[in-house]
Amino acid sequence: MTISRRGFLGAVGIAGAASTMPGTAQAWQSKAPPDPYGCLVDLTRCVGCRKCEQACKEVNDLPEPAVKFDDLTVLDAKRRPDQNTFTVINRYYTGRIDERDKLVPTFVKVQCMHCQDPACVSACITGALTKKDNGAVHYDVNKCIGCRYCMAACPFEIPAYEYDRPILPRVRKCTFCFERISKEGGKPGCASICPVEAITFGRRSELLTLARGRIEGDPGKYIDHIYGEREVGGTSWLYISNVEFGKVGFQKLPTRPMPQTTETIQSSLFSYLWSPLALFGVLGAVMGATSRKHDADTHDKEDGHDA
Ligand code: SF4
Ligand code: SF4
Ligand code: SF4
Repeated sequence: MTISRRGFLGAVGIAGAASTMPGTAQAWQSKAPPDPYGCLVDLTRCVGCRKCEQACKEVNDLPEPAVKFDDLTVLDAKRRPDQNTFTVINRYYTGRIDERDKLVPTFVKVQCMHCQDPACVSACITGALTKKDNGAVHYDVNKCIGCRYCMAACPFEIPAYEYDRPILPRVRKCTFCFERISKEGGKPGCASICPVEAITFGRRSELLTLARGRIEGDPGKYIDHIYGEREVGGTSWLYISNVEFGKVGFQKLPTRPMPQTTETIQSSLFSYLWSPLALFGVLGAVMGATSRKHDADTHDKEDGHDA
């Protein structure tokens, strides 16, 4: 989540300009479910054991990892979820030290945030991605045409694509264990396994209350920020921490939902009777800029530079 998103911010700028056109855009309406499920990740509890990664692989029938789960040297490099791995743990050193002057790590679990108003859903022209009432952003391979607009749109750069699968390649990302949480009492695999209860599954409203309670109950320990409460309009996955989120890989993102921006552009352009061709040209340029930025970031990382 460390990646800077100049392309994304550029798109926000274009949208801002479009949305100021007089008398054009209709008022944008959020489609967020009222009280979905979510997960609260408490970074002060996570010990970096990777059991959540293992459980995720098992419940989603994903390929074995390149590095065994008990080999924690994998934490020496920053990783991203990919087509074979829906969640990863990354380790950060922020300068915190313990009573023996030893550096204290912070471990961060990364997966799809299951946004309340997801950019990926808004970008998907076939309805292959949908936000469900239970909070999961769900993918239907039968509707997917492989355009990968969802990948360009996601502010967290989460969806991955099966480029190496010759027949019917799929977009892949954390499913929020949709089948499991659809059953009474069901929990995501990762939340079920965590040995230190760093991941709490529940209704988003209850998780926010829990998060606020922990922060207010120990203000010397926690920073006063619930990541995901407001970012991009709110997400089903929420985080609390004892270090600034910017120091452990989280992007600073606007509170405005991304679809509010992109759908406002669409509405504004159409109401000015711009041709659909021009519209797709503009949106294509925005997505192209975002995608080129992503490629550049990837190359930077390969060259050993963190964004
Ligand atoms: S994190 Fe990305 S892939 Fe996940 S719901 Fe949000 S926009 Fe979609
Ligand atoms: S919710 Fe399910 S799919 Fe998502 S990271 Fe957890 S175990 Fe994996
Ligand atoms: S299982 Fe829990 S403690 Fe272990 S890495 Fe995952 S979130 Fe952290």
